[in-house]
Amino acid sequence: MSAQVHALAAPTPRTAAAAATARAAPIAAAVSNPRAAPAAERFAPMSFKVFTARDLDRIPQLARLSPEQRFEMKVVAAVLPFRVNQYVIDELIDWADVPRDPIFQLTFPQRGMLASEHYERIARLIEGDADKDALEAAIAEVRHALNPHPADQMQMNMPLDEHGKRIDGLQHKYRETVLFFPSQGQTCHAYCSFCFRWAQFVGDKELRIASSEARVLHDYLRTHTEVTDLLVTGGDPMVMKTRHLREYLEPLLRPEFDHIQTIRIGSKALTFWPHRFLGAEDADDLMRLLRQLVEAGKHVALMAHYNHWKELETDAAHAAIRRIRATGAVIRAQGPLIAHINDDPAAWARLWKTEVRLGLVPYYMFVERDTGARHYFEVPLARAWEIYQQAIQQVSGLARTARGPSMSASPGKVEIQGVTEIAGEKVFVLRFIQGRNPDWVQRPFFARFDEKATWLDQLAPAFGEAKWFWQDEYEAIRAERLVG
Ligand code: SF4
Repeated sequence: MSAQVHALAAPTPRTAAAAATARAAPIAAAVSNPRAAPAAERFAPMSFKVFTARDLDRIPQLARLSPEQRFEMKVVAAVLPFRVNQYVIDELIDWADVPRDPIFQLTFPQRGMLASEHYERIARLIEGDADKDALEAAIAEVRHALNPHPADQMQMNMPLDEHGKRIDGLQHKYRETVLFFPSQGQTCHAYCSFCFRWAQFVGDKELRIASSEARVLHDYLRTHTEVTDLLVTGGDPMVMKTRHLREYLEPLLRPEFDHIQTIRIGSKALTFWPHRFLGAEDADDLMRLLRQLVEAGKHVALMAHYNHWKELETDAAHAAIRRIRATGAVIRAQGPLIAHINDDPAAWARLWKTEVRLGLVPYYMFVERDTGARHYFEVPLARAWEIYQQAIQQVSGLARTARGPSMSASPGKVEIQGVTEIAGEKVFVLRFIQGRNPDWVQRPFFARFDEKATWLDQLAPAFGEAKWFWQDEYEAIRAERLVG
């Protein structure tokens, strides 16, 4: 696919003075007419221009890399999804600091992302001009070796209908929260190199979790009154037209959905394309929709994905945040701890401080999941905890809302609370923040300290225990779901 250009009438920041002048006007407009969509600040129009694996040679900044480095990128991008846009290239990456720049590492393929044997295999086929079928077969094998659906997502999280048939496009793992994957939102404005949902972007239909049917969502929520929270996720739902989002969300204002108190929308658009929230007619309608949901009494939260404070430096990002907050929606910030990008306490402390200054609520520091290029991005749990602890010690109470480091594992969200010594044994102190059984939540449990472990399945119970307190129950739940 060649580079695509979408004229989204998007604004772009150009001068600090222009941005400062523009800032005052929308606030005044919103105050004088509280029902109007919060006004966008004035930015010069900018087109949304996206680059995929086939466009690597068209990115002028890559010319500064060696031909070998560019070839390595092509090999990796043949296996793992790659997509970046002009805004990220021009506004977020410091090309003088490439390849170390964190946003470059966040978006561009790196050779180390593939294990050597996988890399060599694909490289040889590309160099040898192998036929298309042979190359595609090899790529598919490598992808399937990369654990495309971690934490039993396909088998255990997708709800079943009354006939025991899987309901596509939904996940219901924790009692209160349903995840919805609208099919129009199963892409992003750019792709993160470490993406744990990478399998959704490689065009393998078997690996996609998506639904385009508002009816499926509404039927499920109507009959599941135990659900209080809906999380619309992707990909990035903010790639959708507002009219699609409206089709899913507006019906939730009907009394039959009173039990849905919170609507969360997962998104990285504030980083990858903040102009989504500025300027264009569709952006105005999005602001109206958010405000309408808030005014009807729903808690609306944009679950913004951030990895580095550099994502929060542009005028467009600031303007988009102000505009969303003016609707009454809350922005909660979360993201994984990733080697080569943010495995540094100072980077996290600065990120959390910046978030609080801009009115965002720090929410989660996640552990990189056991999928895709994890060996390149993962950070040992012991180091993750040190980074969390050293970062949280540097920030004020308002930024200490960030939980973590947390693993979204199959039994639940498990947080590393600390490392300590009990009865002469060095242990990790763990707790469930969320569990498949709510009774597991907040019960401390202990794992033998292991300085290399990077995920829950690499840990063993401490004090000579044979199993975790939750293990029998979890295995019973798992066996039941896998048979179902
Ligand atoms: S924004 Fe989320 S879903 Fe999209 S590429 Fe990044 S991690 Fe993956």
